Amino acid sequence: MSNRKLDSSEVSASNTTASNVDAEEIAKFEQIARKWWDKESDFKTLHDINPLRLSYITERVDLSSRRVLDVGCGGGILSESMAGLGAKVTGIDMGETPLSVARLHLHESNLNVDYQQSTIEEIADSDTELFDVITCLEMLEHVPDPGSVIGACKKLLKPGGHLFLSTINRNPRSYLFAIIGAEYLLNLLPHGTHDFAKFLKPSEISAWLRQHDLGLKDITGMTYNPFLGTFRLSGDVEVNYLVHATS
Ligand code: SAH
Repeated sequence: MSNRKLDSSEVSASNTTASNVDAEEIAKFEQIARKWWDKESDFKTLHDINPLRLSYITERVDLSSRRVLDVGCGGGILSESMAGLGAKVTGIDMGETPLSVARLHLHESNLNVDYQQSTIEEIADSDTELFDVITCLEMLEHVPDPGSVIGACKKLLKPGGHLFLSTINRNPRSYLFAIIGAEYLLNLLPHGTHDFAKFLKPSEISAWLRQHDLGLKDITGMTYNPFLGTFRLSGDVEVNYLVHATS
């Protein structure tokens, strides 16, 4: 397995039907994927917020024995934690290195996750109503058309199924916190991780949910305390936030 950076032509050549993929975004994650399970490195923030987002999910749905699709699973931090609670998890990502890292880590954790290189649109092209729960966390702000992902989630959820999303709001404060603060001042994330223009307002997510006939149940903020270096769930959705919807 090579650890060189994939260029755009290679990513699109390896998956010609994947239209809703930004090859530059995939390449960014390819480059740093080897550090995915290093809790003190580039993915520290994902490790830090994982218990919070897992409890947000488990307060709303019992994951035990449920079929779960984790979209944009990366190295598998969330996928593994859900599998650890007894869920039957399929993790999909378009990055090859994140998936290799995710598969390798299963040997350490002794958990079972089915990892596949695919977009959710490709799965939804040939199947419907497969999953009880779909999670798509910290991924929508990296795709060209987030509404298309939400439409595919609707198609693949069983009736009454649960959808969990998380992303970053778009306003002056989120620019200050998520780009200047997280990437430049506090070094919580590698420089260039996020593109402000792709951040998504809760109103935009709500409109896509409505368009695809998904019922919005809740929006909760995930707020960073720079003095304590900790995150907590809160009513403040101005920067990072989680969304729960049902089919
Ligand atoms: N959801 C994981 C990882 C978030 S990082 C977590 O929160 O722990 C974003 C991931 O989305 C990267 O691994 C990237 O390769 C993946 N990604 C970006 N665009 C994608 C697409 N269109 N389809 C599938 N995965 C995608």
